[in-house]
Amino acid sequence: MSLKGKTAIITGSNSGIGLGVAWELARAGADVVLNSFTDREEDHALAARIADETGVQARYIKADMSRGDECRALIEQAGVCDILVNNAGIQHVAPIDEFPIEKWDAIIAINMNSAFHTTAAALPLMRKAGWGRVVNIASAHGLTASPFKAAYVAAKHGVVGMTKTVALETAREPITANAVCPGYVLTPLVEAQIPDTMEKYGMDRDEVIEKVMLERQPSKEFATVEQLGGTVVFLCSEAAAQITGTTISVDGGWTAL
Ligand code: NAD
Repeated sequence: MSLKGKTAIITGSNSGIGLGVAWELARAGADVVLNSFTDREEDHALAARIADETGVQARYIKADMSRGDECRALIEQAGVCDILVNNAGIQHVAPIDEFPIEKWDAIIAINMNSAFHTTAAALPLMRKAGWGRVVNIASAHGLTASPFKAAYVAAKHGVVGMTKTVALETAREPITANAVCPGYVLTPLVEAQIPDTMEKYGMDRDEVIEKVMLERQPSKEFATVEQLGGTVVFLCSEAAAQITGTTISVDGGWTAL
């Protein structure tokens, strides 16, 4: 399947799942816009490498997804957006009565509010183009909860709810909106949780991976960024044209438990 002629904007894509999704969309022929809040040489180099290796056009645009105005400016600066992948996200782990207020605010802003702003800015461009795909990278935590992740679980449930509303508002148009719900994927975001979890449970690294992270993932394997990218490419395909307002879990069976 070719996405040649389409342009995809992937928020939070200089690392992890976002970067994996950008690679798979580029391999499928889409031009890609990478994003994060930094503006380093290596950020732009990632886009150059994708362009070199796949032959698509690739750009990197700096925008801070914790700020509504910058979310909207990202879409405006790109000028075209056939595929919007809302992926930027952060995590913080703490009991709710000790949860730092600034972490709560940042998680809600980056993981949920950004998708509101980018979607609002992108839909007019999709309508103009007569085709569009909104893919929100939610989480198994958009469908179930875990202790110590109040802000993340709230934000991801919010994203799943917003996805359904966007799907209903675009149902009569050639635009779909869906959420992908990964289980654990070994990315920098997950790596960063390992030390805290080791301390909280008094475990070593391997025990945290096996007994905490993959405990709820029946496959006992991490999902990969390539698998997430492939799922997004599928949602952009003609076969997925009637799939809208739903979630696709890529979680090794977590939510079947
Ligand atoms: P990651 O830390 O590797 O990537 C997060 C990306 O978001 C990075 O590119 C980072 O630069 C970007 N980002 C963070 N703050 C930003 C900001 N203010 N503005 C713009 N960009 C910002 O993490 P990841 O695991 O690849 O996570 C990507 C998404 O997938 C997140 O929404 C996360 O919640 C979700 N997710 C991850 C897992 C997992 O196991 N890794 C599971 C379920 C869902």
